[in-house]
Amino acid sequence: MRYISTRGQAPALSFDEAMLTGLARDGGLYVPETVPQMSAEEIAGLAGLSYEEAAFRVMRPFIGEAFTDDEFRGIIARAYEGFRHEARAPLVQLGPNHFLLELFHGPTLAFKDFAMQLIGQLFQTALAREGKRVTIVGATSGDTGSAAIEAFRGLSNVDVFILYPHGRVSEIQRRQMTTPEDSNVHALALAGDFDDCQARLKDMFNHFEFRDAVGLAGVNSINWARVLAQVVYYFTSAVSLGAPHRKVSFTVPTGNFGDIFAGYIAKRMGLPIEKLVIATNQNDILHRCLSTGEYATDGVKPSISPSMDIQVSSNFERALFDAYGRDGAAVAQLMDELKSGGGFTVSQGALQALRENFASGRVSEDETRETIAGMHARTGEVLCPHSAVGVRVAEAHQGPTPMITLATAHPAKFPDAVEAATGLHPELPAHMSAILEKPERVTEVPNDLSALEALIHERRAQ
Ligand SMILES: *Cc1c(COP(=O)(O)O)cnc(C)c1O
Repeated sequence: MRYISTRGQAPALSFDEAMLTGLARDGGLYVPETVPQMSAEEIAGLAGLSYEEAAFRVMRPFIGEAFTDDEFRGIIARAYEGFRHEARAPLVQLGPNHFLLELFHGPTLAFKDFAMQLIGQLFQTALAREGKRVTIVGATSGDTGSAAIEAFRGLSNVDVFILYPHGRVSEIQRRQMTTPEDSNVHALALAGDFDDCQARLKDMFNHFEFRDAVGLAGVNSINWARVLAQVVYYFTSAVSLGAPHRKVSFTVPTGNFGDIFAGYIAKRMGLPIEKLVIATNQNDILHRCLSTGEYATDGVKPSISPSMDIQVSSNFERALFDAYGRDGAAVAQLMDELKSGGGFTVSQGALQALRENFASGRVSEDETRETIAGMHARTGEVLCPHSAVGVRVAEAHQGPTPMITLATAHPAKFPDAVEAATGLHPELPAHMSAILEKPERVTEVPNDLSALEALIHERRAQ
């Protein structure tokens, strides 16, 4: 199994090489050269298995020779043992044909734990074997950073630096990043928004001298291993509702397009998915792009679903690569236009290909609040604002096919928005309330590449 870059100019890599690298050296993202197929019998065979066993069967063909079966089973077992629900990703029914996939039972209460816990164990195993050390730098709109810190803290072969937009994450998200005491963890509050954090991170990857000197590794959703981990729950939930004998649809609250791209991979593998619906908040670049073909950034508007306050949606490049018939040069050209002019126009052919796989919807702030309140009144279910964006869009796309909306975070991670909508203060699970008391450790940093690189050089363990 080889991985190739969406911009066509970087060497093909094995699974572990692509995982440890993150971003390709031509600025592109790694994707599998061919997508492994699961037959209807193999999919039906997932019914009734543990999440871990299903995860092994779905992900194994992507791993190639990188890990033995025993190693990989051990990695999966350790990744999910800290989850607080035996099903790992339980389904809850919201209405006659509408289901909620609860992805927030991991250690930091967001779906990011599914990928990050796995990739922590994958890194640990691969680095220990090679006697290597890496510097992980991540950009976060809130949840990736806390999930990464939780997954990598205390590991001996990694330093973790997390850039988050100063003042633009919730208190719980911030405290999850600033209260761990492990010396290999560094929370950096950057003077800027999430797109600035992500842009500086990409700059570091494109500065090869720095990249090689510190052994830079990325765990943002540009990392293929993260996308792969998320493919699993599309299978487990669809099979619970009768796949492969019955089709299902998914609605996914979307920011960086990683989670929904995992659904697209599940579909490419053979899972009978009817619709994959992109749900955006008022930062609706993906919805506008699907509607008009124009991908045009116009600044991030802070919302009550901050983990989706994104304009430059990194993983969309992977979908464009397929929509353009895997033409790396065409993708590289679009990305150049994005960088120099803030946008690009998707060709008619590519737009049609995107619309064959994806539908989309946008939700305003008021609609988000109404949905949290309405769902609580009708079913007792308390939604986080991101999940509410998903539920609202799902309702607009509901048909005869069962709809599964991904609940991406626990409501207690966003208590103010939830309380404003329902009058109810969602309590943090007991094991987490300690972070409200602990001292915080954070460094404020300017939105400046050389200053960031100097700080990372100085702070990392040599
Ligand atoms: C990261 C995140 C999203 C967006 O996921 P993408 O993979 O970036 O599209 C949605 N909701 C929550 C709670 C998140 O943390």
